[in-house]
Amino acid sequence: MPGGVNSPVRAFKNVDGKPIFFKSAKGPILIDEDDNQYIDFIGSWGPMILGHSNPVVLNAIRAQLELGTSYGAPTSLESILASLIKSQVPTMEKLRMVNSGTEATMSCIRLARGYTGKDKIIKFTGCYHGHVDSLLVKAGSGVSTFGLPDSPGIPSKLAALTYSCPYNDIEAVSEVVNEIGDDLAAIIVEPIAGNMGFIPGEHKFLSTLRELCNKSESLLIFDEVMSGFRVALGGAQSIYSIKPDLTALGKVIGGGLPVGSFGGKQSIMDQLAPIGPIYQAGTLSGNPLAMSAGVALLEAVINLNPFDELQIASSEIMLHIKNLMNEKGIPFSTSSIGGMFGFFLSENLPRNFEDVLETDDEMFKNFFNAALNQGIYFAPSRFEAGFISSTHDQDIIDQTKYKIEKAIKEL
Ligand SMILES: *Cc1c(COP(=O)(O)O)cnc(C)c1O
Repeated sequence: MPGGVNSPVRAFKNVDGKPIFFKSAKGPILIDEDDNQYIDFIGSWGPMILGHSNPVVLNAIRAQLELGTSYGAPTSLESILASLIKSQVPTMEKLRMVNSGTEATMSCIRLARGYTGKDKIIKFTGCYHGHVDSLLVKAGSGVSTFGLPDSPGIPSKLAALTYSCPYNDIEAVSEVVNEIGDDLAAIIVEPIAGNMGFIPGEHKFLSTLRELCNKSESLLIFDEVMSGFRVALGGAQSIYSIKPDLTALGKVIGGGLPVGSFGGKQSIMDQLAPIGPIYQAGTLSGNPLAMSAGVALLEAVINLNPFDELQIASSEIMLHIKNLMNEKGIPFSTSSIGGMFGFFLSENLPRNFEDVLETDDEMFKNFFNAALNQGIYFAPSRFEAGFISSTHDQDIIDQTKYKIEKAIKEL
């Protein structure tokens, strides 16, 4: 496998490390092939919000396993998962299941272009929307980490239809919409960004995007693949009270199996085949094994509504680190919402990708590796967010604080 991995960030290239191969996970703990234990702050990039190997999810998968893994035909499980999602994210009046976040955003873009009859889209530098051709233009995390603002293999004619603006910059995006509004199909944004580190959108910025889309008769797409069921039950859109036309989901809704979803206004969604002319399909879309995991996890998350608790837990750890760092004279900034958090080696919190580039990458690497040596598994890049689970109880929090104290002593 190129780089030894099936997804680039896992290679640990940007922290001068080697990928760790895992063999099992339970609650907040990952165990590698050499039996080393780590306290996990990635949680499979989001889905493990109630901890690894959650018994409720495992039992649901086990029960479905006995009934078959795929029929290539409709099941009631798909309807149940769709209803659960819609109950918490009501802007998704109709939705479809797909197999990844990439598929979800890709389908949103096609739908927006087909519905509006326009071709251009606006995205924001540092926001990552999967490895879709049209969206892999100044994308965050993996791509920016490896210094590839655009990827070879993406036709320049297609990339030319994508305009990239700085995040949280109202003036810049307003100017571009003024210029290309007549050709604009959609603005796509991570309302709470997790792919240039953790950077929440500012309310005024997001509400301006809503107005700009209304004015130019283009669609507002919220990519909540990461923030959906991670920052709040209703996602970022419920926190900001802003209604996108289309939403993309992934990660948490699959309960650790490959699932994505996209949805929005009924009038738009009904343009999809077989009702409308815009084509979208999937052999394994909505497959019962993945649906059973998603249903079990979402039911449990909705029941528990753990988001306040998660925020308190990550804040306790992060503030502890901030104090220790400041004692050593090392700049450190941090923030969190629900089960997502972030930190930067900088005095002030960055507002966009350009700010993140100014943070101290060497110190990030040193801190990351020192923490890893103590068995703390943070995301291996300053362009990624952190994730905590409901199984990170007070004992795990205390252990984390103690181990990080030892790690910081080594810096
Ligand atoms: C992870 C992610 C994607 C892509 O999802 P995949 O399942 O990896 O294809 C898209 N958008 C955002 C915001 C993400 O965090």
